[in-house]
Amino acid sequence: MAQMLNAEIIAIGSEMLTPFRTDTNSLWLTDRLNGLGIDVKLKTVVGDDEGRLEEMIRDAMKRSEIIISTGGLGPTEDDITRKIFARVLKKRLILNDSILEKIRARFAKRGVPMPEINSRQALIIEDAQLIENKNGTAPGMLIYHGKCTIALLPGPPREMKPMFEAAVAPALRERAGDLLILRRKLSIFGLTESATDEIAAPIYTKFRNPVTTILFKDGQIELHLTANAKTVDEAEKLLDELAGQLDVALGEYIFSRRDETLEEVVGDKLKLNGYTLATAESCTGGLLAGRITEVPGSSDYFLEGAVTYSNEAKARQLGVPKDLIEVHGAVSEEVAKAMAEGVRRLAGSTFGIGITGIAGPGGGTEEKPVGLVYVALADDEETMIRKFIFPGDRQFIRQLSVNAALDLIRRRL
Ligand code: ATP
Repeated sequence: MAQMLNAEIIAIGSEMLTPFRTDTNSLWLTDRLNGLGIDVKLKTVVGDDEGRLEEMIRDAMKRSEIIISTGGLGPTEDDITRKIFARVLKKRLILNDSILEKIRARFAKRGVPMPEINSRQALIIEDAQLIENKNGTAPGMLIYHGKCTIALLPGPPREMKPMFEAAVAPALRERAGDLLILRRKLSIFGLTESATDEIAAPIYTKFRNPVTTILFKDGQIELHLTANAKTVDEAEKLLDELAGQLDVALGEYIFSRRDETLEEVVGDKLKLNGYTLATAESCTGGLLAGRITEVPGSSDYFLEGAVTYSNEAKARQLGVPKDLIEVHGAVSEEVAKAMAEGVRRLAGSTFGIGITGIAGPGGGTEEKPVGLVYVALADDEETMIRKFIFPGDRQFIRQLSVNAALDLIRRRL
């Protein structure tokens, strides 16, 4: 495997240690660094604290080949990035006259005199390469120190991003050589995280490149495969090899290999076949119809969705026989089936889906506990019914019910 450079990102600024501001710079930077074939091994958020920042920079220089910091280049006392990097690197801070003039000119253009503290922003670490900031006052710096390439960038994303593109990316591209990183995502439904890993781990652990991570998200499992290679073709081949083996092992549990949602996959299949769909929901209260219609173009296949919460509505809107509800209860196989068949018949659609269940927190009994959900799918041949007992809170149970309904029709298609 080709050797990848390893990078770390330091987000500097006490605001990002409050609940009100998030370090988003590092997400963007990680994506860009990965695109250059550079692995991000660590990221940290450090407040405006000289001691902590100094420790962090010292450690970073021991372990990382590339260090990118953002923030703390402002004019005030608590903007300590310049000072602390200079201290650790044992370099002087030198006032750069032409930068000072530029900052003065920026203020003059707005018709205000430059506050004296802004002259701090013209202090440049000795031997650093300057990075021009077209959208703000603080210039950035690029520093080569031993094995480390260090970039100091300002915090505001609209300043940081163009500076990274213009000056840092070209420097790193040269250092990283022509390695690139490609990712692929396999989306899985119907297995737990541990069950997925039990099947997948014996396969992906045989590969060092691509590297595989497993992620649980919104009731679904994602396998993220990351390959690095010199060319796109080579990276694709590495991904194909591993994805192919995972495909065989996980089979129909994989619903997408292209980062699609369940509703997009279902929508594509319905459209391709010229099929239509109508839904009747009780415990999910229209969430299923909502998810289906989030997909642009869903009007091609989605005809209507009924939210029939009460027994009376199930009878009136879907024609579910009242005695069926009385005998079996609203949450039952029989009622789910009648809902799916009823909405299909009334809408004149190819498929009808019915969902009825107990989302909780109240309403559960020994016989019918919270989390009990029936999903039925009717077409012109048969009506399939699935019974689930989902874990979790109300929101999670409702979300899983929608996923289960979408997965049922996906499999049927
Ligand atoms: P300037 O002198 O232009 O203000 P600076 O380097 O001093 O630049 P900071 O003062 O640290 O930047 O941050 C300014 C603002 O930029 C913050 O209030 C925040 O909105 C945004 N910002 C800073 N760091 C980040 C980050 N890591 N992710 C997202 N936004 C950030």
